[in-house]
Amino acid sequence: MSFASLGLNAQLVQAINECGYTEPTPIQTQAIPLVLKGGDLLAGAQTGTGKTAGFGLPMLQRLSETKAQPLANGRAPVRALVLTPTRELAAQVEENLRAYAKHSDLRTLAMFGGVSINPQMKALGRKVDIVVATPGRLLDHVSQRSIDLSRIEMLVLDEADRMLDMGFIRDIRRIIAKMPAKRQNLLFSATFSNEIKQLAEDLLNEPEHIEVATRNATADTIAQRFYGVDKNRKRALLSYLIGHNNWQQVLVFTRTKHGANRLAMQLDKDGLPAMAIHGDKSQGARTRALSQFKEGKLRVLVATDIAARGIDISELPHVVNYELPHVAEDYVHRIGRTGRAGIKGEALSLVCFEEKPLLKAIEKLIKQSAELEILPGYEPLPDSQQPPIEKPGANNRGRGNGGRGNGGGRGQNPRNANNKAPRSNRPNQPQRHGRHDD
Ligand code: AMP
Repeated sequence: MSFASLGLNAQLVQAINECGYTEPTPIQTQAIPLVLKGGDLLAGAQTGTGKTAGFGLPMLQRLSETKAQPLANGRAPVRALVLTPTRELAAQVEENLRAYAKHSDLRTLAMFGGVSINPQMKALGRKVDIVVATPGRLLDHVSQRSIDLSRIEMLVLDEADRMLDMGFIRDIRRIIAKMPAKRQNLLFSATFSNEIKQLAEDLLNEPEHIEVATRNATADTIAQRFYGVDKNRKRALLSYLIGHNNWQQVLVFTRTKHGANRLAMQLDKDGLPAMAIHGDKSQGARTRALSQFKEGKLRVLVATDIAARGIDISELPHVVNYELPHVAEDYVHRIGRTGRAGIKGEALSLVCFEEKPLLKAIEKLIKQSAELEILPGYEPLPDSQQPPIEKPGANNRGRGNGGRGNGGGRGQNPRNANNKAPRSNRPNQPQRHGRHDD
């Protein structure tokens, strides 16, 4: 199967060759002809499957086949919009689309928060055909009237499940309301909750459905190992594994931003150059850490789930779960950073006593049993001697408040101190399960 046989034009095929792709991935084989036909699409696929080219290549071809009339103010209209949950994914998708558009006259622009809005405004003054944006920053532009969505011909919701998890549903609906009703809609999601199904039903018009194997079904390229270790010995074990095995490029996941910062600092002290990326870091710091890591100048990158979402590092050899995620699906997303495109990768998880229920949930999801290995010198205490498990509580949210009380004392929820209802009870407020990463 070749890209040309999927119906792509010579300019695009040339650009794909220059990217080094020799044959289409399964999602591309299925999605490209369907999107070229102009219908709506509901696709089950996650980052790492080649989905960006799956929607990006036919999008570029369709846009290049027609010329758009200028807006009333004489400017060229924005014709396609890709919405992504995170800044990193927006940057990466735009970078890919730009490479695919190299031999066409179509122009792309990434728009996300955490950086000054002014260069984005300036760029919107020039011809931009495709915008790749996170929802929050896009709405800032809409409210400042720097972008006009009234001529959008194609809309892509990328990682729609993650956008909903992050509480973007209202923002998405506000954005959609600014677009013409007649347009082509493509929705990509790794999972299909009732919320996603509802969104798909509202948004898509007689969509074609496609589904490619999620990474847990292709785990044969990822060697998964699980080490049993006490919580207070994890850092030492991690330094040992990196040093002893001479790993030069390791992506490490922690559950909290505070934990990511602390671990990066400790590894650095151990002589292992490390940096943390998470939602509280400036966009500049995140981009710098990521590019140093990609270039092989930084040995360890410590990341939280949201920050790492969409990171694409080719041939990343090692992923470590320093802490297991609370949501089992995140395990699959995390280990999907390695073993890409058929290259062997290794995913290690450090599992302490209190994480055993999380490990059970992961085993159920990946349909594999996880044998805990024990390394000499890092043996955990027997279960009977383990300290009692801390219950997640107000002081235990990884915000680093130094264990201070919540100020309640009389059972008062501090959030209610100003008589506002908690967010989840307020009408018309999106529920934010994760941090708003925009
Ligand atoms: P994506 O799932 O779109 O994030 O793509 C994951 C990675 O696969 C990116 O680095 C792409 O550049 C790469 N890629 C996409 N399509 C192909 C292909 N047909 N052959 C080889 N690599 C590809």
